[in-house]
Amino acid sequence: MLEYQAAKDLLKGKTILVTGAGDGIGKTAAKTYAAHGATVILLGKTVKKLEAVYDEIEAAGGPTPAIVPLDLKGASEQNYRDMAETIEQQFGKLDGLLHNASLLGALGPFEHIDIQSLEDLLKVNVVAEVMMTKALLPVMRKAEHASIIFTSSSVGRKGRAYWGPYAFSKFATEGMMQVLAHECEGTQVRANSINPGATRTGMRAKAYPAENPLDLKTPEQIMPVYLYLMGDDSLQENGQAFNAQ
Ligand code: NDP
Repeated sequence: MLEYQAAKDLLKGKTILVTGAGDGIGKTAAKTYAAHGATVILLGKTVKKLEAVYDEIEAAGGPTPAIVPLDLKGASEQNYRDMAETIEQQFGKLDGLLHNASLLGALGPFEHIDIQSLEDLLKVNVVAEVMMTKALLPVMRKAEHASIIFTSSSVGRKGRAYWGPYAFSKFATEGMMQVLAHECEGTQVRANSINPGATRTGMRAKAYPAENPLDLKTPEQIMPVYLYLMGDDSLQENGQAFNAQ
């Protein structure tokens, strides 16, 4: 997938929402989508980080983005319904949704799993994706073609010792993608997942503190699949699990 070359105007006229757009892979995806012509809705927890991404997109001459400050841990279905209504009023449609924000949580033996932390992590990594997708599907159906991308992980495709709640959440994300994709068959909405693979971000450094980050791919290097799945070159893809690397 690293070899896909996107046309410069691949996403022109599209409106795309990116969760966790303030840092790591989400930040790079937001800037990359804007550089290919999309109006990007930057959703995240830390407003200062979102504002910095907004400024970078404006400075690069991209379409003016929008900022949605939202903590996925506390957000209710009403928050997502309000957001969907605002998007419909402002843009009329939503062409793309990148579910990227996630928590890593604590890694460790099964017997040490803290149930409150598990519930908090599942709220951010799984339940928030359900609520947001539910609320946004009607406005996505107003687009000619709409793409939903879920972010998985190697441990969401094969379980691995000590990866606990994070791994459970990524399996749930893959399952959600498959169920949704099956329901979307024959419609203008499609859903797929991406496993980014080892990528140089804060989350990766937390999971592998002894590793040299310079040995890892940067978020910029894994963007081809993020572009491919968001643009109309991938209209035939639905229900597929992709690897960015
Ligand atoms: P980072 O930790 O660097 O970034 C995560 C982003 O999610 C941040 O912008 C963060 O916002 C946001 N976020 C976290 N919690 C919340 C919340 N409660 N509400 C709103 N936003 C929140 O992670 P990566 O960029 O590395 O990861 C991006 C995705 O890729 C994740 O789904 C991850 O699981 C997946 N992934 C990453 C890999 C890697 O090697 N990096 C490998 C496999 C999968 P804030 O900064 O404001 O807290």
